Amino acid sequence: MFVTMKPHATQAEFDAVLEKVRSLGLSPHPIAGIERRVVAVVGNTGGVDPDDLFGSMPGVAEALRVSQPFKLVSREVKEEPTIIDLGAAQLGGNAIVVMAGPCSVESKDQILETAHAVKKAGATLLRGGAFKPRTSPYEFQGLREEGLKLLALAREATGLKVVTEVKDTETADMVAEYADLLQVGARNMQNYSLLEKLGTIDRPILLKRGLSATIKEWLMAAEYIVAKGNPRVALCERGIRTFETMTRNTLDINAIPVLKALTHLPVVVDPSHGIGLRKHVPAIARAGVAAGADAVIVEVHPHPEKALSDGHQSLDFPEFEVLMKQVEIIAGAVGRPMKR
Ligand code: PEP
Ligand code: MN
Repeated sequence: MFVTMKPHATQAEFDAVLEKVRSLGLSPHPIAGIERRVVAVVGNTGGVDPDDLFGSMPGVAEALRVSQPFKLVSREVKEEPTIIDLGAAQLGGNAIVVMAGPCSVESKDQILETAHAVKKAGATLLRGGAFKPRTSPYEFQGLREEGLKLLALAREATGLKVVTEVKDTETADMVAEYADLLQVGARNMQNYSLLEKLGTIDRPILLKRGLSATIKEWLMAAEYIVAKGNPRVALCERGIRTFETMTRNTLDINAIPVLKALTHLPVVVDPSHGIGLRKHVPAIARAGVAAGADAVIVEVHPHPEKALSDGHQSLDFPEFEVLMKQVEIIAGAVGRPMKR
């Protein structure tokens, strides 16, 4: 349930609500709003009537049950969008943000060259995996800490912020030392120990959709992170498994407007994994922005044919420049500037 305070409610009235929630054995999660404050009440609230308990308390405007199973990430509880300030860019604001870089960090030259090229074309974040969860244990697993150091070097050289994958709880603190945005891969979306750990880390999270996860399961996964205390979560649509075999995955365009209505969290589109075919990646990036995504994450490599992972879906530098221009036009058509 959630309790909405009146616009001019006092701090003492707000504190009294928090105290009452605790006295019931439930957890209060204050949510800062621009106009009024809201307290989300989490726990087993089955037997209690929100209005009976809170409706008549001084400073309370209304107390209602949240109809969805996800609470803290729901638009019902927080109307205003969550904006994640990454310094170089704000994720979830009006401007469209582009994150670009290789699937995996492979070498100093590769990551520096890519960082300079994507920055020049207008990206504000550099992507690159250092810990790679691969389908086969015999494939390239990433440069691990060495890869993180190279990402930090590229950030220093270009001013781009860094997004990279955190694969497990054991290495989460180490990855957080180097990265500005922590990516949870599709294969880990329901790794609840990892989600809970990330709820305690002071870094924003990019939560990719599981290979066959429903939107509800995905939002519940985000809820795990937020419920543990980290409200800075963005959701990334990266395609789902369907019966189709001509494409690597099927990018679920539907999910973008549906998420924007259900949650206040920023929504990112990943056209690279979404379709998995280099020549069609720009079309899917354009479609994602047209559908309402707040950001695009795209794989770019200096020599896609030589990439150690996902070369078949990586753009080269000239292709990325074209994509940036096209995305900017589509952004303009839906009334959004492009963050450069
Ligand atoms: C990636 O971003 O390179 C990646 C492995 O993505 P996903 O987890 O969506 O497959
Ligand atoms: Mn990849």
